[in-house]
Amino acid sequence: RTVYVNGDYVPENEAVISIFDRGFLMADGVYEVTSVLGGKLIDFEGHAARLERSLSELDMPHPCTKDEMLEIHRELVRLNGIEEGLVYLQVTRGSDGDRDFVFPDRETTKPTIVLFTQSKPGLADNPAAKRGTKVISIDDIRWGRRDIKTVQLLYPSMGKMMAKAAGADDAWMIEDGAVTEGTSNNAYIVKDGKIVTRGLSSDILHGITRAAVLRFAREAQMEVEERAFTIEEAKAAEEAFSTSASAFVMPVVEIDGVPLGDGTPGPVARRLREIYLDESLKTAI
Ligand code: PMP
Repeated sequence: RTVYVNGDYVPENEAVISIFDRGFLMADGVYEVTSVLGGKLIDFEGHAARLERSLSELDMPHPCTKDEMLEIHRELVRLNGIEEGLVYLQVTRGSDGDRDFVFPDRETTKPTIVLFTQSKPGLADNPAAKRGTKVISIDDIRWGRRDIKTVQLLYPSMGKMMAKAAGADDAWMIEDGAVTEGTSNNAYIVKDGKIVTRGLSSDILHGITRAAVLRFAREAQMEVEERAFTIEEAKAAEEAFSTSASAFVMPVVEIDGVPLGDGTPGPVARRLREIYLDESLKTAI
């Protein structure tokens, strides 16, 4: 695999980063994951805009322009022959060669930028989407700025492991009785035919797929309600699903062992997945 590190395209085993990098020592970094379908980038504009916002919220300089970023994404897709898969991008604050809690000087410390691809044949035609996924609920004990897409993914990783140990696929997190989001996706239920999902705040990541799916749903005259919902409400819902750049719209058919409806992916989730795949391909670049 060819990867990108700080201006260079290199074989993955030749990419080098300092052990003092604050991304490594302090999770002082942000990331984006953009999916690739038919060799093209899905929702690139949205991911570029969110990266911009994550960087500015953390007062981190941008390592390159949006056009340069697009060029790097495209070049890696080309070099690695990615038809279906993902491009991962990470920017960290870098380091001034020492470990200190205080941020290093912004003018003299270059951020670190790394990109690599992951080939995922079958991303669109995913058997899990046909079968539906099972989730468990766990406490949301993450920090209070979940709207910034940082690389602090330890608790979400633990959540996935808890799900796996329970024979499920993922975990939905709960705070003050309400579902915040999945470990790596936004969470939805369908109630009385309405799509219900938590509104945007610093409690959740502002999903790029969420924004697109809600727009397509409204354009298709489907009703959308942005509000918090409890796990009990979710267990009694007609349907549930999640969205993310790497799984698109993913039906959820079981929550904490309770099957939803007849235990198969519901019509709203299936339709939204189809619409999302069709529509987002039209703006793929
Ligand atoms: N919430 C969390 C916590 C996530 O990690 C992700 C995916 N990175 C999402 C939501 C979905 O965001 P997106 O649609 O931009 O992939």
